Amino acid sequence: MLWILISLFFLWCAFREVRASILAPAGFDSPRPIYKPYLGTVLILAVLFAWPTIHRWHFEHYLSVKATELADNHRARVHCNTVLDTMLDPEMLAAGHANPQTGKIGIQHPWCSRLMSYLRHPERASEDELWSLGMFTHESMHVRGELNEAITECEAVQRNYRAAKLLGVPDEIARKNALDYYNVLYKRRGTIGGMQGFYYSDQCAPGKALDERLSDSTWATEVAAAP
Ligand SMILES: [Zn+2]
Repeated sequence: MLWILISLFFLWCAFREVRASILAPAGFDSPRPIYKPYLGTVLILAVLFAWPTIHRWHFEHYLSVKATELADNHRARVHCNTVLDTMLDPEMLAAGHANPQTGKIGIQHPWCSRLMSYLRHPERASEDELWSLGMFTHESMHVRGELNEAITECEAVQRNYRAAKLLGVPDEIARKNALDYYNVLYKRRGTIGGMQGFYYSDQCAPGKALDERLSDSTWATEVAAAP
């Protein structure tokens, strides 16, 4: 919000300069011509300061549309928290949280940036970037209606392939990313236990109790990909 206020200040400077070329400013008998270098500079500054916020709004809208689709059309509204939002968030310690009643998904700083980085180069996704994909899918599953963390996470594991493709990741890479998440990050949760154990179930595997047998399941793609 601070950046937007600074941007508005520069817009006002630009407006004042243009107005002075039409109406005589106070203390002058006639309008004065626009000083173009000044006008250009303040307009560029206005755009530069507004850009991060506009870019974030655009990404939030994009994620909201994709999360709604993942949540079987339960309406999701994604908010990417700034540093200040995160500090003021009562659920600050969770990287993300969602409310199935309102559809609101809060993603803490800097997880939206990580998700953006992932989408820029999914073929070389880091662990953190894979976590950001998994978290996005996980929170969408809460909006879909599930509250139990282990079931929610298992629903997400099966849909990470779908989620990555919805976010524009090419098919082969989306498949690999979703399988890496399941085989490495998810299974590690089971071995670490503790808090991580709440998100894990040994029934979250092909043919087990939590397998939803989705046609585009992350697992189905593993079977399809097998020689
Ligand atoms: Zn959760």
